[in-house]
Amino acid sequence: MTKERIAVFDTTLRDGEQSPGFSMNLEEKVRMARQLEALGVDVIEAGFPISSEGDFAAVSAVAAECRTVTVAALCRTAEPDVRRAAAALKHAARPRIHTFVATSDLHLEYKLKKTRAEVLEMTRQAVTLARECVEEVEFSAEDATRSDIDYLCEVFATAIAAGATIINVPDTVGYTMPVEFSRLVRRVREQVVGDRNVTISVHCHDDLGLAVANSLAAIDAGARQVECTINGIGERAGNASLEEIAMALKVRADQLPFETAIRTEQLYPTSQLLSSLIACPVQPNKAIVGRNAFAHEAGIHQHGVLSNPLCYEIMTPESVGVPANNLVLGKHSGRHALAMRYEDLGYAMQPDEVDVVYARFTSLADRKKRIYDQDLIALLQAGTVVHEVLPAETATAGKGWVHAASGV
Ligand SMILES: [Zn+2]
Repeated sequence: MTKERIAVFDTTLRDGEQSPGFSMNLEEKVRMARQLEALGVDVIEAGFPISSEGDFAAVSAVAAECRTVTVAALCRTAEPDVRRAAAALKHAARPRIHTFVATSDLHLEYKLKKTRAEVLEMTRQAVTLARECVEEVEFSAEDATRSDIDYLCEVFATAIAAGATIINVPDTVGYTMPVEFSRLVRRVREQVVGDRNVTISVHCHDDLGLAVANSLAAIDAGARQVECTINGIGERAGNASLEEIAMALKVRADQLPFETAIRTEQLYPTSQLLSSLIACPVQPNKAIVGRNAFAHEAGIHQHGVLSNPLCYEIMTPESVGVPANNLVLGKHSGRHALAMRYEDLGYAMQPDEVDVVYARFTSLADRKKRIYDQDLIALLQAGTVVHEVLPAETATAGKGWVHAASGV
């Protein structure tokens, strides 16, 4: 039986980049977009063109660079917004205009100062115009989870009638719960979509730590596109994390029999690239891509993993692209072992460069119990203070330095 496909819509460059301190320049956005394409996402939301010249340029550049994925541009339901998004996507191989308007009474009254009837009309006009510009239009009902359900369905029906083929149900404020969200998605499916060729999408925020759980519940209820970001970055507490959704679907295919086009071995490299571009380390215990995600600390766990990794690992480090390595790096490790480790990480060095890094390495090894890949990468970067990445731990005499990605 062929599994149903879930489209992965990555919004690292839009929602993710919007978070304070995470901005990227044009070159960095293009680099990230290329990696997202290599990862196998279906859609890259590259920016919000009317919001700034920088966003406009980023969407244009990503559209010119990434030819196999759909490139989406965000816009409000106002004519200049839609036209600006269309202009940014002019040279895209597969353009998508993503237009949104809030549908909760709270937003209508205090933010938009519009009536329900006016928002319906804005939806109709924006989607109609967007469809005149591009083939593929996605419509989002901002704050859907706090909207009146009948009204929400009416807005979605209007968007579909005007030509939208993807309707997105955002949990904009990270408020919903899995059971409740799955009921909402089911209701939209039954009441609005029916057997029409329209994709239901979800966009979950993590304010209560439920973004991934809510996204998975929505898939179970009929959503076929998930919006997410690398490392879960995004507004406030962030968006649903792409790597967690991708691996949950892969590891628990028995419960959720769907597939994505994600090349899971690219998850870790993608996470690392983003982390370096935004200069923000991944939280150590972060699922899938955190430096401790496959590190077994307790002695009994180490013994179990050595006998059979499945004792404590539900997936292998290799399956998500964590470089597999049993090398124990410590202050007694030689230059050769260090150079080999760097080569595994993708850094080839000349002997004189190895000497420089080796000196930094031994000085770090005197102060730190464990040397992680992130430390090694930090050692390469001139001016990087390792303490900012990882606090120095007290070295324990006589003990080895277990490599984080070793799986032991
Ligand atoms: Zn969002």
